[in-house]
Amino acid sequence: MRVLIVGAGIGGLTAALSLHEAGFEVLVAEAAARLRPLGVGINLLPHAVRELTELGLGEELADLGVPTAEMVHFDRFGGRIWGEPRGLALGYSWPQYSIHRGELQMALLEAVLARLGEKSVRTGTVFEGFEQDGTRVRARLLDRASGTVETVPADVLVGADGLHSAVRAQLYPDEPAPLWNGIRMWRGLTEGEPFLTGRTMAVAGTNTAAKVVVYPISGRAERDGRALLNWVAEVNMVRAGHSGGPSPNGEAAGGRPGGTADWNRTGRLDDVLPHFAGWTFGWLDVPALLRGTAQILEYPMVDRDPLGRWTFGRVTLLGDAAHPMYPIGSNGGSQAVLDARVLAHELASAADPAAGLLGYERERREAANAVVLACRDMPADRVLHMVSERAPQGFSCIEDVLTPEELTAINGAYQRTSFSDVEALNTRPSYTVTS
Ligand SMILES: Cc1cc2nc3c(=O)[nH]c(=O)nc-3n(C[C@H](O)[C@H](O)[C@H](O)COP(=O)(O)OP(=O)(O)OC[C@H]3O[C@@H](n4cnc5c(N)ncnc54)[C@H](O)[C@@H]3O)c2cc1C
Repeated sequence: MRVLIVGAGIGGLTAALSLHEAGFEVLVAEAAARLRPLGVGINLLPHAVRELTELGLGEELADLGVPTAEMVHFDRFGGRIWGEPRGLALGYSWPQYSIHRGELQMALLEAVLARLGEKSVRTGTVFEGFEQDGTRVRARLLDRASGTVETVPADVLVGADGLHSAVRAQLYPDEPAPLWNGIRMWRGLTEGEPFLTGRTMAVAGTNTAAKVVVYPISGRAERDGRALLNWVAEVNMVRAGHSGGPSPNGEAAGGRPGGTADWNRTGRLDDVLPHFAGWTFGWLDVPALLRGTAQILEYPMVDRDPLGRWTFGRVTLLGDAAHPMYPIGSNGGSQAVLDARVLAHELASAADPAAGLLGYERERREAANAVVLACRDMPADRVLHMVSERAPQGFSCIEDVLTPEELTAINGAYQRTSFSDVEALNTRPSYTVTS
């Protein structure tokens, strides 16, 4: 059986490895002329690390990434509100890794080329559309270099082509552009000194105004006694007085954006720095962190409404193409990895491809849609907002500001948005299928 995957992102490449391991022939069509290590940091939660480890990539992850030790919330003055261990320290059998998105993608690509062959990934190849009958799918692929369009037959077509998925657009031609919640995110990488445990993910402020998330992402820098710090600075443009006006990406705040959300868009220091003036804590100087970045990226916090159906005959969606979500709680890449593994498992166990795709959708759609909605709800942020309202000038003792129940609610919020039950993850059977 031949599977055509559209998109060589984290989801598409993990699917290629998993399907190949299960004995399928795989071709990946990728629009980019050349794959480069783009993006900044992401987090792989233990459930995704388990899957990549079972694909034989555990050593690469340990080499590239930093096993996140704890996540700690602070107010905008650096006062500690709440913290919790992460990964192995929570009892999972696999760590959580903070890792460079592009380096992870390159590690996956290298594994795909080594295991499936050099011709398994066709770059510079844009998916344009498909037709299907009961037995085959035929995809139109444009070769960007020559301008020619080839019709490629396959038994199954997987749209792993991200937020602006062309496969999804054919399945849902009337779907509007991604939805923007009014928050703009600036992202960057800065070399610096390790802070707190050296493996801490620090979150300061709230999404109702401004918030910064900082964590180290490079195993290499850590081995040199340094830290490559990934930062995401989020500003609520509605609260910041930009309500009604378009963002630089052309979206109307809180509405349906007209412009394009582009992960590679360059941002300006002058646009973000003023929102974090004075955010200098004993252990971290946020303005210095932002100023120390060579290239700042800017992106609107967008998602799409959950879909009631991913699979149409022999065509299905995976990763951001199926369930784009706010980058909150480390879910985007991790959910794509889970999709990929379940897809291969279900296709290998089913009597025919269409049944396999339906099995995959049954296992994954509701679960992933629930994460999309949980990310929108931002439950932890509600409690953090309470802190900013009750103690606008900071606090010396968090117990004076929040009751024990309110503090526990932050923990519960992460359980709902991101985490698998420890025992369930540690003991459930593997998705690995070998041919
Ligand atoms: C360049 C880039 C940088 C990113 N940077 C960050 C980041 O810094 N932080 C973060 O949290 N998330 C980032 N993301 C998103 C993150 O990678 C995803 O949310 C998550 O990993 C799920 O991945 P995915 O494979 O489903 O989609 P994606 O990672 O978006 O991959 C989709 C792939 O499909 C390809 N594609 C799109 N349309 C077509 C087409 N018509 N034909 C063929 N191929 C097509 C794209 O070029 C891309 O390689 C980035 C995504 C990209 C593409």
